[in-house]
Amino acid sequence: MPEKMKRPTPRHIPATLEVAKSLYKTPALVCHRVRCGKLTCHCVEGQRHGPYWFLHWREGAVQRRRYVRQVDVEAVRAVVVGRRRDDREMRRAVALAVADLRRMRTWLRDLGAA
Ligand SMILES: [Zn+2]
Repeated sequence: MPEKMKRPTPRHIPATLEVAKSLYKTPALVCHRVRCGKLTCHCVEGQRHGPYWFLHWREGAVQRRRYVRQVDVEAVRAVVVGRRRDDREMRRAVALAVADLRRMRTWLRDLGAA
């Protein structure tokens, strides 16, 4: 593609931020120590590495996790916290709507019985 046709380079968006935003369910941001997998490492039996931050989520029966770079932790946390708040508000709105429908159903039944 000719140079002038190229789009301006988009601002770098950390991959973990995209994961935190785009997963169907809000992932959990958790901090823990890990084993590196080398059989000769001290972490096999002793102190593990870290702690490091990860996003955890479930895909069907499979628990998945993704490492979050230290520089991205605050941005990822903001996304997760914001999504949790949105999820809570959505659940509350749905619960209110369901309660309204139940009341209407009761009224209609009572009208029919009258
Ligand atoms: Zn290790």
